[in-house]
Amino acid sequence: MGYGFWGKVLWVNLTNGEIWEEELPESLYRRFLGGYGLGVAILFQRMEAGAEPLGPKNILAFLPGLLTGSNAPFSGRFMVVARSPLTGGWGEANCGGNFGPALRGAGYDGLFVTGMAERPVYLYIDGNRAELRDAAELWGMDTVETEKALREKLGTDIRVACIGPAGESLSLISGIVNDGGRIAARCGLGAVMGAKRLKAIAVRGKARPPLADPEAFKRATASYRELFRRRPSYWSSRIPGLFRRLLPFLRRFGIRPSGGPVQMVIDSFRIYGTAAGTAMLVELGDTPVRNWLGIGFRDFPLEKSSKLSDESVIRHNIRSYGCHSCPVACGAIVRLPDGSSGHKPEYETLAAFGPLLLNDDLESVMLCNEICNRAGLDTISTGVAVAFAIEARERGWLPKELSEELPLAWGDGKVIVELVRRIARREPGLGNWLADGVKRAAELLGEEAQEAAMHAGGQELPMHRGLYEPAVALGYAVDPAPGRHTATLSGLTELKAYSRYLALRGIKLPGRYEYAPKGQAFGIIIPIIRAYDSLGLCHFALQMGEPPFLAWLNAATGWDFDEEEFLKVGKRIQIMRHAFNAREGLPMHFPLPARELGKPPQEIGPVAGITLDLETMVANYFATIGLDLAARWPWPEISDLIP
Ligand code: SF4
Repeated sequence: MGYGFWGKVLWVNLTNGEIWEEELPESLYRRFLGGYGLGVAILFQRMEAGAEPLGPKNILAFLPGLLTGSNAPFSGRFMVVARSPLTGGWGEANCGGNFGPALRGAGYDGLFVTGMAERPVYLYIDGNRAELRDAAELWGMDTVETEKALREKLGTDIRVACIGPAGESLSLISGIVNDGGRIAARCGLGAVMGAKRLKAIAVRGKARPPLADPEAFKRATASYRELFRRRPSYWSSRIPGLFRRLLPFLRRFGIRPSGGPVQMVIDSFRIYGTAAGTAMLVELGDTPVRNWLGIGFRDFPLEKSSKLSDESVIRHNIRSYGCHSCPVACGAIVRLPDGSSGHKPEYETLAAFGPLLLNDDLESVMLCNEICNRAGLDTISTGVAVAFAIEARERGWLPKELSEELPLAWGDGKVIVELVRRIARREPGLGNWLADGVKRAAELLGEEAQEAAMHAGGQELPMHRGLYEPAVALGYAVDPAPGRHTATLSGLTELKAYSRYLALRGIKLPGRYEYAPKGQAFGIIIPIIRAYDSLGLCHFALQMGEPPFLAWLNAATGWDFDEEEFLKVGKRIQIMRHAFNAREGLPMHFPLPARELGKPPQEIGPVAGITLDLETMVANYFATIGLDLAARWPWPEISDLIP
């Protein structure tokens, strides 16, 4: 064991019930860190190509990052990886909450699950004890009930990651939930867990691996925490609301704000979380509206989007909460319309059940969020599936029995809630038809319907548009786990945060629609994000000043990483992720729907007249990371490619 990590992971074979520990060499951590990095290194080696995503040979891994559970601010993330049943390729989902720190606290840098149990089981980990237990009584419960039942049985200090009915019924848009509403949502990994009949993982752990230089770690943490000492002022709490009222003027004069002073961003996260931005993003043309065919300010004007933004949302707050060691606590528990409590919807959820469906009924959005959290469903994919169904009915593509099942219509909150409930339970008819996402749903309709199925490589597109920021579309198309906003650069703010890494390569910050330089910059920055993720830190921290992650990494491990080495590690992780897909026979990049690319371009509004040049960005990205777009597996020189 080195410093800053345990040097040990846990393996479970559900077919024969075997459980064992494996020690890993320090060199593996130095080359891949933790989280996604460690995950792709091990899955690529240990999983045979062609393993069925829902079969026993698929390996489902839970991986805290290298700094997860440390006292570094924002260090609560863990990642789940496996071969995705939704895309058929590399699958990963990143999640906050407290499960990751608990798994690390139990003495493991990762948990790898293979095989398939005969009956439902859950895994109980307590320090050095790990055992499989019968889960017959838990099967069928939703995620909140499951967590509650396990905590009542095992103690309130237990942390639980589990699937709900959606994962049990192998819905390809299901995820894995912890803390009753934090979900590793994307890539259909809940179905992988459901296929293995693993209902839950319950873990108790508070230990921390020793640090190489605890004083240096403390110093770096203390100075960064200074940024978060000031409490939000009266004015900072009013800025998003005031700003919202200015939006029509900003739009009229073509002004596109991208971020703001760090203190304002921190305050805004503290007060509103990501709900601060809904109205702004709709107004500026970033949020997709009416299944990508609408224009924000015209079809979902400010008086509607304001109902799903900032003050309107937090009116329902009961209390704020945050992930492990988070200084801003962007989450909140809210009062639901039926009087019960649940999680505050985040921006992606507000947009997916709001403007995407022309729905301004916040209560219905909150109910959809709660249904998805309890069932263990991805809110992005579910919202996109509902949008597809409404358009399909409107355009007469649905067979009679589906068309007559519900009066699907844009903006009808009640019907939307009912449809989401049916998807969550995979009820025969519309629910079953949509439970595996839009790609499969569209395959059952005619050719024409394909144009309305908004996905990349099978995964539903998130709530940011490439027309507003082209690097978003590039990320959707080229990431080995495509169609995810966390694999993109959502704006110039982020590009600016990484400009130091661009400068190392002599690259200037590209303009918004400078396609070749943008593809090149993406090829530098995305590997950094991959390495950053593998530390287990939250992405939002990057919008709030630059967290001293290299100082934390070096103080924790005793290594001497500089920007160059960090970049090299990120590139290694990224290339391994591409290699995983190439080995499965998947393309190097995925086509995007014409609507996302601006074909035809919008006639009015902030992104009018724009058609993206995706090909140029794609070519420049691959050239920058050194992969041949035309190469077929096996790549002859993989060891040369992996630096
Ligand atoms: S900013 Fe929000 S998502 Fe990120 S660590 Fe804090 S509470 Fe979790």
